[in-house]
Amino acid sequence: MKKNRPRFLPDRRTFLKGFSLVLGSTALGFPFFSFGSCQSGGNSDSGTENQADPQTQGNTKKLGIALVGLGGYSEHQLGPALKETQHCYLAGIVTGTPSKIDRWKAEYNIPDKNIYNYQNFDQIANNPDIDVVYIVLPNGLHAEYTIRAAKAKKHVICEKPMATSVEDAVRMLEACRQNNVQLSIGYRLHFEPYNKRVMELGQKQLFGKVQSIEARNGFNITRSNPNVWRLDKKLAGGGPLMDMGIYCVQGACYTLGKAPVAVTARFGEVTHKDYFDEVEQSISWKMEFDDGTIADCSTSYAEGQSLLAGKAEKGWWRVEPAYAYSGKSGETSKGKMDYPDVFEQALQMDAQALSFKNNQKTIVPGEMGLRDVRILMAIYESARNNGKRVPISYA
Ligand code: NAD
Repeated sequence: MKKNRPRFLPDRRTFLKGFSLVLGSTALGFPFFSFGSCQSGGNSDSGTENQADPQTQGNTKKLGIALVGLGGYSEHQLGPALKETQHCYLAGIVTGTPSKIDRWKAEYNIPDKNIYNYQNFDQIANNPDIDVVYIVLPNGLHAEYTIRAAKAKKHVICEKPMATSVEDAVRMLEACRQNNVQLSIGYRLHFEPYNKRVMELGQKQLFGKVQSIEARNGFNITRSNPNVWRLDKKLAGGGPLMDMGIYCVQGACYTLGKAPVAVTARFGEVTHKDYFDEVEQSISWKMEFDDGTIADCSTSYAEGQSLLAGKAEKGWWRVEPAYAYSGKSGETSKGKMDYPDVFEQALQMDAQALSFKNNQKTIVPGEMGLRDVRILMAIYESARNNGKRVPISYA
């Protein structure tokens, strides 16, 4: 299913080089920009303004993270990333597949008392080793496990998309609020230099006012078994829009530092009916912003794409691939963008752990996840109604 996506397992030097470059640059005031707050309902994007500086923060205890769901993303990205993090470590696992336990136990030195299944998961409440629960399950299960984790009084990181409905996303936020824990989304690209540069170019208007945005993301799922949760409406919430198109929604929002006021959308043609009887094969949409800027976006489960581009009054930029785990490449009207590959999941979880420790909202809070679910649902509503313009309310 994810064979065509790069699986980046950097050597330690590459990672540390990237890590120190990003962290080291904090001291120089670059490139940690302040892009306006996403705290007020998450309707705008921020760069890194709440990112605590590990050099100056005194609490050195590493937070214990439990991964819920040991599928591809946990196995190939999050687990390896947690070998590199400085402020959190893999303390526990939650799995429904007993045959996976021995390997994870051995590789990550996890004691038996920190291993759970989906039935006894709630007992994690009594485990002081676990500070954070990271939900890495099919999208349709995010709400249930986030709410159970919140009731266990654990901070939650939830993978994208946060939920498969606005109602679920609201319930998740409410559960975390009531239990006085934080909810953060696995939006790794906020911790990655190419996408951070796009935020800076767009939000600081370094080439003048942004005039248009183009964002495309997809991969070909039709080379794999059709019997996967990504093609199951109940578990996935939808097709490529939920899985890949969400990166385009994010890209457009963080280019401008704000959320769209309306969307229009059209489903693409279904050419693989055996795969796409429940979810869309492709969808294209436009996001309209209050200043008139339009983001032209598309996503597909039948074609590989990975683009985030922008045109402004006095220049342009183009990152392609923009959303892959590694090997990003980009250019602006002033020349090639040249940033190191970083282990973005490690940077993401370290920043989230620091925010949890310091009792500060992360730069990718649950409110931002809810905002994005509202946008995704509006895109579907427009596509179901032949491209009708759907205004979006964030209240
Ligand atoms: P996957 O299919 O590889 O793994 C899913 C895991 O969930 C498996 O371990 C499976 O056993 C478990 N599971 C539990 N209940 C299940 C059920 N009822 N049906 C199917 N599986 C069930 O998926 P993945 O690629 O690891 O994706 C998991 C989550 O992570 C998704 O929400 C996805 O959007 C997200 N993800 C994020 C990124 C990113 O870059 N941020 C990348 C990949 C996946």
